[in-house]
Amino acid sequence: MPSIFTKIINGEIPATIVYQDAFCVAFRDLDPQAPVHVVIVPRQEVTGVAALTELGDHQHLLFAAKKVAEIEGVAESGFRLVINQGQDGGQSVDHLHVHLLAGRKLNWPPG
Ligand code: AMP
Repeated sequence: MPSIFTKIINGEIPATIVYQDAFCVAFRDLDPQAPVHVVIVPRQEVTGVAALTELGDHQHLLFAAKKVAEIEGVAESGFRLVINQGQDGGQSVDHLHVHLLAGRKLNWPPG
């Protein structure tokens, strides 16, 4: 079964895409936790960090995050990148993704 994010990548489910390249797609989170909340996913489906192999589209996630930060105008003001892994990490979609959060002062440590 393709993940919900693969369906977004394939255009089967609507999403507001803010950036895409040969390796990654970035779109606005449905339930934003900050004024800017973008989810960045590798095109190649892998469930999460714990399932990674050495090489793959995931290697391009950080560069995609940088591009998203620039596009969203938060590269200078700052932003946070989050990857939730597994049950205790709060992962709800089993397709590796990076959250980019910005547009307000973010608390540390996170809950
Ligand atoms: P996580 O809890 O780290 O697995 O993050 C999954 C994120 O995907 C959550 O922040 C959801 O709000 C978001 N999400 C789930 N379905 C969609 C969708 N169809 N479009 C955009 N974001 C979604």
